[in-house]
Amino acid sequence: MKISERRVNGYDRVVVGADEAAGYHGIIVIHSTVLGPAVGGTRFWNYTSEEEAVTDGLRLAKAMTYKNSLAGLPFGGGKSVIIGDNKTKERERIFRAHGRLIESLGGNYIAGEDVGTSPADIEIAALETRHVAGRRNLSGDPSPVTARGVFRAIQASAKYRWGSEDLAGRTVALQGCGHVGYYLAERLHRAGVKLIVSDVDQQKVATVVREFSGRAVDPEKIYGVEADIFSPCALGGILNDHTIPQLQVEMVVGGANNQLLEPRHGDALEERNILYAPDYAANAGGITNGAIELLSWDREYTFNQVDNIYTTILRIFEIARADRIPTYQAADRLAERRIEQAKSPVRSKQTL
Ligand code: NAD
Repeated sequence: MKISERRVNGYDRVVVGADEAAGYHGIIVIHSTVLGPAVGGTRFWNYTSEEEAVTDGLRLAKAMTYKNSLAGLPFGGGKSVIIGDNKTKERERIFRAHGRLIESLGGNYIAGEDVGTSPADIEIAALETRHVAGRRNLSGDPSPVTARGVFRAIQASAKYRWGSEDLAGRTVALQGCGHVGYYLAERLHRAGVKLIVSDVDQQKVATVVREFSGRAVDPEKIYGVEADIFSPCALGGILNDHTIPQLQVEMVVGGANNQLLEPRHGDALEERNILYAPDYAANAGGITNGAIELLSWDREYTFNQVDNIYTTILRIFEIARADRIPTYQAADRLAERRIEQAKSPVRSKQTL
């Protein structure tokens, strides 16, 4: 395999691997290892160029640094991307090559699943390296745990905005009835919430409607429905110039990654007095679940940590209020504070 390195300001390492015989072209981005080895998934996507893949990898790896920091995990941030058709049947060659590239970093990067990759792909990479997470029969499907954390984020937001975390009688507009959306719908239904749901997959919508008494709307209509909370659990970039003016809710709290198309959309929500629970704080349950495998945490401790998302969300809102900044900036500030303290232990001791 041909391995080359790119220098990018603000990033620890950007490593490009190309193995023609294996049909493999992949990139590992390590944003930071201040808090520990960089942990983040592998995205398999049909990028049109290496440039596009690197840009995506940089954005995703940095987001992992912030997510892991805020979740209190001893992990830095990293991500890897593989360029190609993620429906390919040639998985053994590709994921073995990817495993070799991961191995070349000697444990500074630990890979899991992401869009386009499955637990079976991780098993293949594990033939070449032990620096992977999300293996069969270890930490298991993270999505119920992600939903657990998103539910706690919703409760915290309700407490902050309405003075009570009781959700009975509230209405949630839920976008996406996939893994996270399904388990979140289950929890919300049990808490007495009325659900309005959408998905591009009619079967998934039908299941949630049937099991949790939801009302279905067309995917484009979900932004404009009257509800108390909008919960994005499908795609990224869905809080944008087109959707924000349509929202008829008091808060946005969901599991999807990268909900704000651009940071300024966090300001736009603020201007409309819509409370935004930063996505990477709300959806950290999945990565925290990975600690069962990577740090040998027991399930009870892990779930307690996930439930603490409630406290983290409230802290973010308090910082936002005290410093008069939007909540997405408050989350970044909190995440950065922990990293800075880890960099300068002497100073952090003095400020305790
Ligand atoms: P998933 O693929 O199981 O579910 C996503 C669902 O969204 C699918 O049912 C899909 O049909 C639907 N969808 C796609 N486009 C849509 C649209 N325009 N309108 C409505 N629905 C649409 O994925 P998932 O694992 O449930 O993840 C959902 C989101 O949460 C993603 O953004 C993911 O990155 C994020 N996330 C997931 C986890 C996890 O543990 N699975 C952890 C952290 C973050």
